[in-house]
Amino acid sequence: MTTDGNSYAWGWRNDPFREDIFLLPHEEETRARVEQITEDNRDALRHYVELLVWETHGNPDLLRIAVSLLWHFEDVDPRWMAEASFMSVGDVRDLAESQPIMTFHCLDCGVELQVMNRRHLIRMHHSLRALRKGDVGDQRLADLLCRTCIGQRKEHAEDQCRLDQLRQQALLAEYRSRPYAERRATREWTILKQQVHRRDGYRCRLCGNSDEQLHAHHCTYANYAEERLEDLITLCSTCHERFHFLEAS
Ligand SMILES: [Zn+2]
Ligand SMILES: [Zn+2]
Ligand SMILES: [Zn+2]
Repeated sequence: MTTDGNSYAWGWRNDPFREDIFLLPHEEETRARVEQITEDNRDALRHYVELLVWETHGNPDLLRIAVSLLWHFEDVDPRWMAEASFMSVGDVRDLAESQPIMTFHCLDCGVELQVMNRRHLIRMHHSLRALRKGDVGDQRLADLLCRTCIGQRKEHAEDQCRLDQLRQQALLAEYRSRPYAERRATREWTILKQQVHRRDGYRCRLCGNSDEQLHAHHCTYANYAEERLEDLITLCSTCHERFHFLEAS
């Protein structure tokens, strides 16, 4: 609980005049300093919490206000309040919860959300702040929704997903029904063909020729317009023609 520049006493100021170069501290050293600052600040905070709680002796209303207020601050340990007020931690909790300062409502339906405990209260507070900053994570959002609305949002998301799937299938069916010649002019086909040729080293898989024009031949049409790379192989135009000629005869 010192504010007298105690930190300098253990000599960790990086003095640019004392050394020729800036010395980057070791990672452990940095971690130790983080711990030290945290501990110092915690001691200082505890001191002020105790001072405040002592001031409320003989004034139960003021004690309740102080405890309710401090209850919302994550860094304040309830045990400090308990010790300073000669109460148990449970009594401090009951007192704090008898006069809640912050309340939270479901973001969808507005119903007041029940606070389970102090940790839950602090979490909702953090989530609200995160949402305000635009951090709309699913968990953050769920912290500020009632159970019914969580269920409804889930159902809505599932419906949307199903709808997207149906649209995807419809688009694919439409794409598959297009003539092959048309498809060969699409960017999708160009990219797929390039990938097949790259995988095959830009050579015909039958004769090894790399000088002729290369085609992508379908080993199967089962996944047409949704081919995986293994459904196609690289053939030169000669082998490709011969292959289809033999197949037809
Ligand atoms: Zn709701
Ligand atoms: Zn072919
Ligand atoms: Zn060939």
